[in-house]
Amino acid sequence: MRVLVIGSGGREHALCWSIAASPLLTKLWCAPVNPGIAAVADCVPIGALDFTALVAFARDNAIDLVVPGPEAPLVAGVTDAMEAASIPCIGPSRAAARLEGSKAFTKQICDAAGIPTAQYERFDDADAAREFVRRRGAPIVVKADGLAAGKGVVVARTEAEAIAAIDAMMGARAFGDAGASVVIEECLLGQEVSLFALCDGETALPLGAAQDHKRVGDGDTGPNTGGMGAYAPPPMFPPALQDAAMDGVIRPALAELKRRGTPFRGFLYAGLMLTDQGAKLIEFNVRFGDPECQALLPKLKSDLLPALQAAYDGELRNFDLRWHDAASICVVMAARGYPDAPERGSEIRGLDRAAALPNVLVFHAGTEADASGRIRASGGRVLNICATGADLRVAHDTAYAAIGAIDWPEGFCRHDIGWRGLTR
Ligand code: AMP
Repeated sequence: MRVLVIGSGGREHALCWSIAASPLLTKLWCAPVNPGIAAVADCVPIGALDFTALVAFARDNAIDLVVPGPEAPLVAGVTDAMEAASIPCIGPSRAAARLEGSKAFTKQICDAAGIPTAQYERFDDADAAREFVRRRGAPIVVKADGLAAGKGVVVARTEAEAIAAIDAMMGARAFGDAGASVVIEECLLGQEVSLFALCDGETALPLGAAQDHKRVGDGDTGPNTGGMGAYAPPPMFPPALQDAAMDGVIRPALAELKRRGTPFRGFLYAGLMLTDQGAKLIEFNVRFGDPECQALLPKLKSDLLPALQAAYDGELRNFDLRWHDAASICVVMAARGYPDAPERGSEIRGLDRAAALPNVLVFHAGTEADASGRIRASGGRVLNICATGADLRVAHDTAYAAIGAIDWPEGFCRHDIGWRGLTR
């Protein structure tokens, strides 16, 4: 198979690493690429949103399957663009990707399919939104309806905080049109976990669960980020609860989207809050999680590529995936200043030394190679240091030992990834 992966982060490096191991693979490309991905895939210098160029490349190179990683091309319709040119693409259509592109749409699906989620109301009018907050009181959650790079959610502890969020989103348009309408919802209490499934429009194959760490600092302090690390499996979400969430959240959403004539194919990600009343949906995402993907794929024993093909073909019903019975962890190394103003350009040494350690994988997220081949930081989240082990403690210590082998004074990481699992 000739495969094209779209995206250039740590998730796409992990996807490429996994696909590259498949005996079914003839050749792998990735658009764009980073120096880590370049070790397993050929570089296609086309941006993830340049559909015209991507379609032309896929056609010219007789690509058998396109695998988009990030949400932006999916929400913008990359699957539709490929399909229009008869190029197989394993991702949701633009219509199905509204599950991530619009919070209000997700709530409609939850209502129609009976999926447990926070009580909510949607507002197009800022005065009505403020009035609702005054009536309901805090804590309360304000969400920009559209995509806001993971920053459009404010969990407000006070009424004033909630009203400031409404002013910023709807008045000052801090997130552009994404904030033209807002969803205001009940604040859920509990632990958060992410559940993943590969879907073929009708059948959902579980890919496991992981727990992410959103805050930048140790002890869950500081601003929210795209994710500073993840581990799997999360012990507070045992297999029986995962099965219940597959049946109560993932499968009903799939059935409802099919009923509406917009079946969902691709990676479906349910962000869940484990409340006293059971798992409730916080959000759907229409792609694999980053960094959860980097923690989950090293546990996969089976070949990923035929699973992706079966998902595209609508044949997951008779498909099974096998997993290593190991704990897995991914620690994100970020550039100093992340998430506000990451410093770019610093040199990173010792990556080979780290990757050579047993049970360690180093995925690149925001790196570039300079003219003399030195690896430099080029983004906020820069590296993913991943390790597996017999249990979470072993995986954790292995990953941090690998970090110790990396010489990058301008980088930092959290030192407590996996703490909820370790202290249980
Ligand atoms: P989202 O972009 O919807 O995933 O929201 C980002 C983060 O905000 C989530 O990961 C949660 O930590 C938090 N959050 C979102 N909705 C709620 C809610 N209803 N109750 C409590 N926390 C929430």
